[in-house]
Amino acid sequence: MLAERGVLVSGNWKMNENHFEALKLVQELGALLLAGTLPPGREVSLHPPFTSLRTVQTAVESDHIPVALGAQNCHWEDRGAYTGEVSAEMLAKLNVRYVITGHSERRQYFGETDEVVARKIDAILRHGMVPIVCVGETLAEREAGDAETKVRGQVRAALEGRPTEVVASVVLAYEPIWAIGTGRTATPADAQEMCAAIRSEVGHFAPSATAAIRVQYGGSVTPETAEELLAGEDIDGFLVGGASLDAQRLVSIVRARA
Ligand code: PEP
Repeated sequence: MLAERGVLVSGNWKMNENHFEALKLVQELGALLLAGTLPPGREVSLHPPFTSLRTVQTAVESDHIPVALGAQNCHWEDRGAYTGEVSAEMLAKLNVRYVITGHSERRQYFGETDEVVARKIDAILRHGMVPIVCVGETLAEREAGDAETKVRGQVRAALEGRPTEVVASVVLAYEPIWAIGTGRTATPADAQEMCAAIRSEVGHFAPSATAAIRVQYGGSVTPETAEELLAGEDIDGFLVGGASLDAQRLVSIVRARA
Protein backbone atom coordinates (compact mmCIF):
# COMPACT_ATOMS: atom_id res chain seq x y z
CA MET A 1 0.00 0.00 0.00
CA LEU A 2 0.96 3.61 -0.54
CA ALA A 3 1.32 5.47 2.76
CA GLU A 4 -0.81 8.42 1.61
CA ARG A 5 -3.84 6.24 0.91
CA GLY A 6 -3.85 4.64 4.35
CA VAL A 7 -5.25 1.22 5.14
CA LEU A 8 -8.91 0.36 5.70
CA VAL A 9 -9.74 -2.94 7.41
CA SER A 10 -13.45 -3.74 7.25
CA GLY A 11 -15.13 -6.47 9.28
CA ASN A 12 -18.11 -7.99 7.47
CA TRP A 13 -20.10 -9.88 10.08
CA LYS A 14 -22.55 -11.17 7.46
CA MET A 15 -25.68 -12.80 9.00
CA ASN A 16 -23.98 -13.41 12.35
CA GLU A 17 -24.36 -11.94 15.85
CA ASN A 18 -27.72 -10.99 17.32
CA HIS A 19 -27.68 -7.61 19.02
CA PHE A 20 -26.62 -9.03 22.41
CA GLU A 21 -23.70 -10.86 20.79
CA ALA A 22 -22.87 -7.81 18.68
CA LEU A 23 -22.61 -5.66 21.80
CA LYS A 24 -20.24 -8.14 23.42
CA LEU A 25 -18.10 -8.36 20.29
CA VAL A 26 -17.82 -4.63 19.76
CA GLN A 27 -16.96 -4.11 23.43
CA GLU A 28 -14.22 -6.76 23.24
CA LEU A 29 -12.91 -5.15 20.10
CA GLY A 30 -13.06 -1.71 21.69
CA ALA A 31 -11.07 -2.87 24.73
CA LEU A 32 -8.35 -4.33 22.50
CA LEU A 33 -8.18 -1.33 20.18
CA LEU A 34 -8.18 1.19 23.03
CA ALA A 35 -5.42 -0.70 24.85
CA GLY A 36 -2.94 0.15 22.09
CA THR A 37 -2.50 2.45 19.15
CA LEU A 38 -3.33 1.96 15.52
CA PRO A 39 -0.58 2.30 12.92
CA PRO A 40 -0.74 5.75 11.28
CA GLY A 41 -3.35 6.08 8.55
CA ARG A 42 -5.14 2.95 9.64
CA GLU A 43 -8.93 2.84 9.70
CA VAL A 44 -11.37 0.14 10.79
CA SER A 45 -15.01 -0.29 9.79
CA LEU A 46 -17.49 -2.74 11.29
CA HIS A 47 -20.42 -4.06 9.28
CA PRO A 48 -22.95 -5.76 11.57
CA PRO A 49 -26.37 -6.98 10.42
CA PHE A 50 -29.02 -4.23 10.26
CA THR A 51 -30.58 -5.39 13.55
CA SER A 52 -27.33 -4.68 15.41
CA LEU A 53 -26.41 -1.36 13.82
CA ARG A 54 -28.01 0.84 16.45
CA THR A 55 -26.49 -1.22 19.28
CA VAL A 56 -23.02 -1.07 17.75
CA GLN A 57 -23.39 2.64 16.95
CA THR A 58 -24.29 3.43 20.58
CA ALA A 59 -21.36 1.41 21.95
CA VAL A 60 -18.87 2.91 19.50
CA GLU A 61 -19.97 6.47 20.23
CA SER A 62 -20.28 6.16 24.00
CA ASP A 63 -17.00 4.26 24.48
CA HIS A 64 -15.09 6.24 21.81
CA ILE A 65 -14.08 3.06 20.01
CA PRO A 66 -11.94 4.01 17.00
CA VAL A 67 -14.04 2.31 14.34
CA ALA A 68 -16.38 3.59 11.65
CA LEU A 69 -19.85 2.14 11.39
CA GLY A 70 -20.58 0.16 8.26
CA ALA A 71 -23.49 -1.67 6.66
CA GLN A 72 -23.56 -4.72 4.42
CA ASN A 73 -26.15 -3.61 1.89
CA CYS A 74 -28.87 -1.06 1.18
CA HIS A 75 -31.70 -0.36 -1.23
CA TRP A 76 -31.28 2.16 -4.06
CA GLU A 77 -34.49 4.09 -3.30
CA ASP A 78 -34.78 6.35 -0.26
CA ARG A 79 -38.20 5.07 0.79
CA GLY A 80 -41.26 3.29 -0.56
CA ALA A 81 -43.04 -0.01 -0.94
CA TYR A 82 -40.02 -2.31 -0.75
CA THR A 83 -40.93 -4.73 2.04
CA GLY A 84 -37.95 -5.90 4.01
CA GLU A 85 -35.50 -3.39 2.59
CA VAL A 86 -33.39 -0.71 4.28
CA SER A 87 -32.45 2.53 2.50
CA ALA A 88 -29.16 4.38 2.32
CA GLU A 89 -30.95 7.37 3.83
CA MET A 90 -31.82 5.30 6.93
CA LEU A 91 -28.22 4.14 7.25
CA ALA A 92 -26.86 7.66 6.98
CA LYS A 93 -29.10 8.70 9.89
CA LEU A 94 -27.33 6.06 12.03
CA ASN A 95 -23.94 7.62 11.23
CA VAL A 96 -23.03 4.76 8.93
CA ARG A 97 -19.95 5.73 6.93
CA TYR A 98 -19.18 2.70 4.74
CA VAL A 99 -21.69 0.50 2.89
CA ILE A 100 -20.63 -2.74 1.22
CA THR A 101 -22.27 -3.24 -2.14
CA GLY A 102 -22.00 -5.88 -4.83
CA HIS A 103 -20.76 -8.54 -2.42
CA SER A 104 -20.56 -11.84 -4.31
CA GLU A 105 -23.03 -13.43 -1.87
CA ARG A 106 -25.60 -10.78 -2.86
CA ARG A 107 -24.81 -11.19 -6.53
CA GLN A 108 -25.03 -14.99 -6.24
CA TYR A 109 -27.98 -15.54 -3.86
CA PHE A 110 -30.04 -12.41 -4.48
CA GLY A 111 -29.45 -11.90 -8.18
CA GLU A 112 -27.78 -8.50 -7.89
CA THR A 113 -26.53 -7.36 -11.27
CA ASP A 114 -23.95 -4.73 -12.13
CA GLU A 115 -26.88 -2.40 -12.88
CA VAL A 116 -28.40 -2.89 -9.42
CA VAL A 117 -24.99 -2.40 -7.82
CA ALA A 118 -24.54 0.89 -9.73
CA ARG A 119 -27.92 2.16 -8.48
CA LYS A 120 -26.98 1.26 -4.92
CA ILE A 121 -23.69 3.12 -5.32
CA ASP A 122 -25.70 6.17 -6.47
CA ALA A 123 -27.82 5.97 -3.30
CA ILE A 124 -24.84 5.52 -0.98
CA LEU A 125 -23.04 8.51 -2.50
CA ARG A 126 -26.22 10.61 -2.50
CA HIS A 127 -26.32 10.25 1.28
CA GLY A 128 -22.68 11.14 1.83
CA MET A 129 -21.43 7.64 2.62
CA VAL A 130 -18.64 5.63 1.03
CA PRO A 131 -19.41 2.51 -0.98
CA ILE A 132 -17.15 -0.52 -0.64
CA VAL A 133 -17.74 -2.06 -4.05
CA CYS A 134 -16.92 -5.77 -4.26
CA VAL A 135 -15.62 -7.30 -7.46
CA GLY A 136 -14.19 -10.74 -8.12
CA GLU A 137 -14.12 -13.79 -10.32
CA THR A 138 -15.31 -17.37 -9.87
CA LEU A 139 -12.87 -20.26 -9.88
CA ALA A 140 -14.10 -21.29 -13.34
CA GLU A 141 -13.43 -17.79 -14.67
CA ARG A 142 -9.93 -17.81 -13.17
CA GLU A 143 -9.15 -21.23 -14.60
CA ALA A 144 -10.40 -20.12 -18.01
CA GLY A 145 -8.08 -17.09 -17.90
CA ASP A 146 -11.04 -14.69 -17.74
CA ALA A 147 -10.52 -13.30 -14.25
CA GLU A 148 -9.10 -9.93 -15.21
CA THR A 149 -11.70 -9.29 -17.92
CA LYS A 150 -14.50 -10.06 -15.47
CA VAL A 151 -13.09 -7.85 -12.72
CA ARG A 152 -12.25 -4.95 -15.03
CA GLY A 153 -15.81 -5.09 -16.39
CA GLN A 154 -17.28 -4.95 -12.88
CA VAL A 155 -15.09 -1.96 -12.02
CA ARG A 156 -16.21 -0.08 -15.15
CA ALA A 157 -19.89 -0.91 -14.57
CA ALA A 158 -19.65 0.48 -11.04
CA LEU A 159 -17.62 3.63 -11.60
CA GLU A 160 -17.22 4.71 -15.23
CA GLY A 161 -18.86 8.07 -15.96
CA ARG A 162 -18.74 9.31 -12.37
CA PRO A 163 -16.82 12.50 -11.52
CA THR A 164 -13.13 11.90 -10.81
CA GLU A 165 -13.35 13.11 -7.22
CA VAL A 166 -16.21 10.69 -6.58
CA VAL A 167 -14.26 7.78 -8.08
CA ALA A 168 -11.28 8.73 -5.90
CA SER A 169 -13.43 8.55 -2.75
CA VAL A 170 -14.80 5.05 -3.35
CA VAL A 171 -13.33 1.82 -1.96
CA LEU A 172 -13.04 -1.21 -4.22
CA ALA A 173 -12.71 -4.67 -2.70
CA TYR A 174 -11.15 -7.40 -4.81
CA GLU A 175 -12.70 -10.62 -3.54
CA PRO A 176 -12.02 -13.74 -5.60
CA ILE A 177 -15.19 -15.76 -5.03
CA TRP A 178 -13.24 -19.00 -4.64
CA ALA A 179 -11.39 -17.47 -1.67
CA ILE A 180 -14.41 -16.26 0.31
CA GLY A 181 -15.12 -18.36 3.37
CA THR A 182 -13.08 -21.24 1.98
CA GLY A 183 -9.87 -20.84 3.93
CA ARG A 184 -8.12 -20.51 0.58
CA THR A 185 -6.46 -17.07 0.35
CA ALA A 186 -5.17 -15.74 -2.96
CA THR A 187 -1.39 -15.69 -3.04
CA PRO A 188 0.06 -12.26 -2.25
CA ALA A 189 1.34 -12.08 -5.84
CA ASP A 190 -2.07 -12.91 -7.36
CA ALA A 191 -3.88 -10.49 -5.05
CA GLN A 192 -1.40 -7.70 -5.83
CA GLU A 193 -1.61 -8.39 -9.56
CA MET A 194 -5.40 -8.08 -9.63
CA CYS A 195 -5.46 -5.02 -7.35
CA ALA A 196 -2.96 -3.36 -9.73
CA ALA A 197 -5.18 -4.30 -12.69
CA ILE A 198 -8.17 -2.74 -10.89
CA ARG A 199 -6.24 0.48 -10.35
CA SER A 200 -5.13 0.53 -13.97
CA GLU A 201 -8.74 0.03 -15.10
CA VAL A 202 -9.76 3.07 -13.04
CA GLY A 203 -6.97 4.93 -14.87
CA HIS A 204 -8.76 4.37 -18.20
CA PHE A 205 -11.77 6.49 -17.23
CA ALA A 206 -10.60 8.55 -14.22
CA PRO A 207 -6.80 8.90 -14.50
CA SER A 208 -6.50 11.39 -11.64
CA ALA A 209 -8.29 9.01 -9.25
CA THR A 210 -5.83 6.13 -9.51
CA ALA A 211 -3.40 7.28 -6.85
CA ALA A 212 -6.15 7.99 -4.31
CA ILE A 213 -8.67 5.18 -4.73
CA ARG A 214 -8.37 2.48 -2.08
CA VAL A 215 -8.39 -1.16 -3.15
CA GLN A 216 -8.96 -3.81 -0.49
CA TYR A 217 -8.36 -7.52 -0.77
CA GLY A 218 -10.90 -9.96 0.68
CA GLY A 219 -11.01 -13.74 0.84
CA SER A 220 -10.06 -15.78 3.91
CA VAL A 221 -7.71 -13.10 5.29
CA THR A 222 -6.21 -14.15 8.63
CA PRO A 223 -3.65 -12.67 11.04
CA GLU A 224 -1.19 -15.12 9.48
CA THR A 225 -1.70 -13.89 5.90
CA ALA A 226 -2.39 -10.18 6.46
CA GLU A 227 1.15 -8.85 6.62
CA GLU A 228 2.35 -10.49 3.44
CA LEU A 229 -0.75 -9.36 1.55
CA LEU A 230 -0.41 -5.80 2.80
CA ALA A 231 3.10 -5.66 1.37
CA GLY A 232 1.49 -5.48 -2.09
CA GLU A 233 1.76 -1.85 -3.16
CA ASP A 234 -1.78 -1.78 -4.59
CA ILE A 235 -3.44 -3.45 -1.58
CA ASP A 236 -4.85 -0.83 0.79
CA GLY A 237 -6.49 -3.01 3.39
CA PHE A 238 -8.89 -5.88 3.74
CA LEU A 239 -12.52 -6.89 3.73
CA VAL A 240 -12.63 -9.60 6.38
CA GLY A 241 -15.47 -12.04 6.92
CA GLY A 242 -14.87 -15.04 9.20
CA ALA A 243 -11.90 -13.63 11.11
CA SER A 244 -13.82 -10.43 11.96
CA LEU A 245 -16.08 -12.42 14.31
CA ASP A 246 -13.14 -12.89 16.66
CA ALA A 247 -12.03 -9.62 18.25
CA GLN A 248 -8.45 -10.78 18.83
CA ARG A 249 -8.03 -12.00 15.26
CA LEU A 250 -9.54 -8.88 13.77
CA VAL A 251 -7.30 -6.64 15.85
CA SER A 252 -4.23 -8.64 14.78
CA ILE A 253 -5.22 -8.03 11.15
CA VAL A 254 -5.84 -4.34 11.88
CA ARG A 255 -2.38 -4.05 13.41
CA ALA A 256 -0.60 -5.95 10.62
CA ARG A 257 2.55 -4.14 9.58
CA ALA A 258 2.49 -2.66 6.09
C1 PEP B 1 -16.21 -11.57 2.82
O1 PEP B 1 -17.29 -11.97 3.16
O2 PEP B 1 -16.15 -10.48 2.23
C2 PEP B 1 -15.03 -12.37 3.11
C3 PEP B 1 -13.90 -12.00 2.58
O3 PEP B 1 -15.19 -13.47 3.91
P1 PEP B 1 -14.01 -14.41 4.51
O4 PEP B 1 -12.97 -13.50 5.09
O5 PEP B 1 -14.68 -15.26 5.51
O6 PEP B 1 -13.47 -15.18 3.34
